Amino acid sequence: MEELLQQILQECRPYTGQGALASYIPELARQDPDRLGIAMFHKDGNMVEAGDSRRCFTIQSVMKPLLLLLALQDNGRETVRAHVGVEATGKPFDAINVADNALLAKHLNPMVNAGAILMCQLVGGETYDQRFARLLGFIRRLAANEKIDLDEEVYHSEKATGSKNRALAYLLKAHGLIRGDVEELLDCYFRACSIRVSAADLARIGCVLACHGQLPDGQRLFPAAYGRFVNANLMTCGMYDGSGDFAIRVGVPAKSGVGGGIMAVVPGRMGVGLFGPALDEKGNSLAGIRALELLSARLDLSVF
Ligand code: GLN
Repeated sequence: MEELLQQILQECRPYTGQGALASYIPELARQDPDRLGIAMFHKDGNMVEAGDSRRCFTIQSVMKPLLLLLALQDNGRETVRAHVGVEATGKPFDAINVADNALLAKHLNPMVNAGAILMCQLVGGETYDQRFARLLGFIRRLAANEKIDLDEEVYHSEKATGSKNRALAYLLKAHGLIRGDVEELLDCYFRACSIRVSAADLARIGCVLACHGQLPDGQRLFPAAYGRFVNANLMTCGMYDGSGDFAIRVGVPAKSGVGGGIMAVVPGRMGVGLFGPALDEKGNSLAGIRALELLSARLDLSVF
């Protein structure tokens, strides 16, 4: 199996040169665009890896499904659905997609920035420090890796330059969708984006979602129904306005982030983590998607 992963990476290397690094903060623009790593974590607990699978990068939007999962656990399905929609926006992840009417939250989903910012306030905790600490603890448990932590430099940069996210949050506040202090809420969102993970971590987390909350040792981390909720949302919205194309080419629920990570969930079978920081025009890892396309074809992964 490791040979297959090595071979896939070899075939995908030419694609790293066709993408572009995220450049909205210097820390991301300084990454090496030729990095490429893949990890596969099977439900029986077996990990197979190749390339830069242990190299750390910031999780960015791959934290969005985990934020949603925690919001579901803390509030239940009905409350979450009352606060945010589940339909694809068909727009870029940072689009100012807030219609000027009272039902606007329904036009957002938790996989785009505005929806994820809303999710931060649904995480339980008295302060945003506590909410962030709970999210970090949850991600560590999902990945079985206590070393996962914040990238302070990326966090400070996100915070200093996040004008678009700030604009989105203040718009949500103007429409009465945010209670309390917008800056504290945004601080939680920026920190959540700046958590450092590896492709191997994403493979493990993807596998827990693939098993609807169950770990290889039988322990359950969240109710199966919440896993199905998140996986469905990933399938329709996880790759932003590239989700339809991804469903055809790869055919599994997945989430990308501008740090170059992709977490793919193969229901009932495995999680796959990818790292390739050169992105396509939608903000998804270009070589990462190609690698998943090849893996899906070779191992018959598509749920369709
Ligand atoms: N930090 C990024 C932002 O908020 C995350 C977006 C992403 O990974 N697509 O714009």
